Amino acid sequence: MTVWSQVVGQADAVEVLTKAAQAAALIVRGEQAASGGMTHAWLFTGPPGSGRSVAARAFAAALQCDSGTGCGECSGCRTTMAGTHADVRLVVPEGLSISVAEMRALVQTAARRPTNGRWQVVIIEDADRLTEGAANALLKAVEEPPERTVFLLCAPSDHPDDVSVTIRSRCRGVSLRIPPAKAIAEVLVERDSVDPDTAKWAASVCGGHVGRARRLATDEAARERRAAVLRIPLGLRRPGDVFTLADELVKAAENEASEQSGTRDEIEREALKTALGAGGTGKGTASATRGSAGALKELERRQKSRATRTQRDTLDLALVDLAGFYRDVLVTASRSEAALNHPDHANDARTAAASWSPESTLRRLEAVLACREALELNVKPRIAVEAMVTTLYYG
Ligand SMILES: [Zn+2]
Repeated sequence: MTVWSQVVGQADAVEVLTKAAQAAALIVRGEQAASGGMTHAWLFTGPPGSGRSVAARAFAAALQCDSGTGCGECSGCRTTMAGTHADVRLVVPEGLSISVAEMRALVQTAARRPTNGRWQVVIIEDADRLTEGAANALLKAVEEPPERTVFLLCAPSDHPDDVSVTIRSRCRGVSLRIPPAKAIAEVLVERDSVDPDTAKWAASVCGGHVGRARRLATDEAARERRAAVLRIPLGLRRPGDVFTLADELVKAAENEASEQSGTRDEIEREALKTALGAGGTGKGTASATRGSAGALKELERRQKSRATRTQRDTLDLALVDLAGFYRDVLVTASRSEAALNHPDHANDARTAAASWSPESTLRRLEAVLACREALELNVKPRIAVEAMVTTLYYG
């Protein structure tokens, strides 16, 4: 399997990137590439789950490939895909926004000669989550790129809200589309050894999100969370159910966030302590300890912001599933042939379509969308969710 087999349902993008990798290989060999297929800065855009960072990583592997343009077998390809290649740096801002100082240091390292004589590659996942200062530090490097340095930026879109116009203008764009269900099912079977039936089911309910399909196919807890969310619409029978179900929804998101951050937070704390030499007894230890207390506090603040982000993201995923169900009810009521978001809950959608008026279904759908907006505006999750579930009950 080449590195491109990971890039699901994106034939156009793969063609562009393969050509660029071929041109890049000529440059490395000191020959002039016939077409200007290679450039120093790339912007990968596409909806969540379309595989922006996977595509960026595959391209990085193709640039580091020992035997071609992403054979998938050589050590250049394998170490890049595993995230251990010495000349490929992966930046994941997540909830932890990357500081200006960190970005400057990164840009400086990226300007060094590549150890294997090919390219220094910097992949920035979620470039839309960079702080303004960090983005400015990055812009300087993208404006005057070192000869053998390549920046691969990933963002939901090239809208100015996501990536500044100046950075955008320096990058070549690669836009990814929502991969078709069939391609998603195939990659689950081939790469993740999922059985064909489960793969087909997961691909049909994931909304075009490859990572979510893999999660649903391989993680029992993720399947259970989705099932719990989809029980809400028909599970609201008494006014009291509103608060029980709202509470479950919020708690599920909190648990997911603490599960995801628990071990990672501890590892980061230990790594920082080691780096700061905590526990030393030599000269200057007292002032070093004062400094490290500050650094630890800063790390904890950022970990907390990441946990909040994970909680929001998990809750948002549940709301997207929920909105998809109410849309399915509208589709069913109108006898449209449009594909359902949750084909495995078609019976529930039929039951609901028979007992609710289209107007009340629409009010429920709007309540879910309003809840998403409220969360985006930092309304406390519990308040936003309770207000939503109240409307879901009364219709
Ligand atoms: Zn290779």
